[in-house]
Amino acid sequence: MLGLPDGTRACLFDLDGVLTDTASVHAAAWKQMFDEYLRVRAEREGAEFRPFDVTSDYGPYVDGKPRLAGTDSFLRSRGIELPAGGPDDAPDAETVFALATRKNDLVQDKIVTVGVEVYPGSVRYLHAVKEAGLAAAVVSSSANAEQVLRVAGLIELIDHRVDGVTAKERGLPGKPAPDTFLAAAADLGVGKDQAVVFEDALAGVASGKAGGFGFVVGVDRLGHADALREHGADVVVSDLAELLEAGR
Ligand SMILES: [Mg+2]
Repeated sequence: MLGLPDGTRACLFDLDGVLTDTASVHAAAWKQMFDEYLRVRAEREGAEFRPFDVTSDYGPYVDGKPRLAGTDSFLRSRGIELPAGGPDDAPDAETVFALATRKNDLVQDKIVTVGVEVYPGSVRYLHAVKEAGLAAAVVSSSANAEQVLRVAGLIELIDHRVDGVTAKERGLPGKPAPDTFLAAAADLGVGKDQAVVFEDALAGVASGKAGGFGFVVGVDRLGHADALREHGADVVVSDLAELLEAGR
C-alpha cells in the first residue's frame, strides 16, 4: 500500500521540502534581513545599494546551510567581513550572530503571518502511514520545526520529532551525519532496518544511507533525481503520493 519494503515499522520524514514548502519563507527572510543591512551600509559609505538576489545569491551562499554559516558566506561574497559576535548581541549589532538572529526572527514572524504551504501528496501519504499503523517521525535540522508543524496542521499526524532544538540539547551532529535519524528510530523503539528515511536534500539522503536504514526515499523537488540516487536514495519520487500508486 505504501510502496515500502515489508517489515517497515516507522517513517522518518525530513520537514522542509518533504512535508512542507518552507523554502520560499526562508528565502524571503534572508532577503529582507540582508537588504536592510546592505542599505544601511551603502548609505553610510556613500556606495551604491546592491540588494540580495534570491535567484543568484540564495542557492550558492545560504540554501541548506546553518544560519551563521549562511550569513557569513553571503557577506563574504560581497567582500564584507564582520566579527562573529554571540547569542547575546543586540539585534542591531553589526555581527554575524546578530544578523543571523534577525533572519530567524523574520522566519518566525512569516511562519505565523504568511503561513506554511504543505504538499497535498505528502498529507495523503501521512494519513496512509497512520492508517497502516506505522509510526511517523519528523527529523529536521530546523529549530522551528514544532511551530511549522503546528501552523501547517500536521502536528497531530506526527508521533515523534527530532529537530534543531532537540539535536542541540542532546549534542547530536546534524545531517549529513546520520545521528538525528538514528536517534529518532531508537526513540521509537524501531530497528534501523525497519525504518525508512524520506529526504529531498542530497545531504539528507546521504545521511539515510550512512545510517544503514532499511530504505531511503529521495523526494525530487528540484529535478536532480540522478544526484539523489548517487547519494543513496533507493527510490526517487517527485511526490510522496506516487508511492501510494506504486504500492497498489
Ligand atoms: Mg529538506
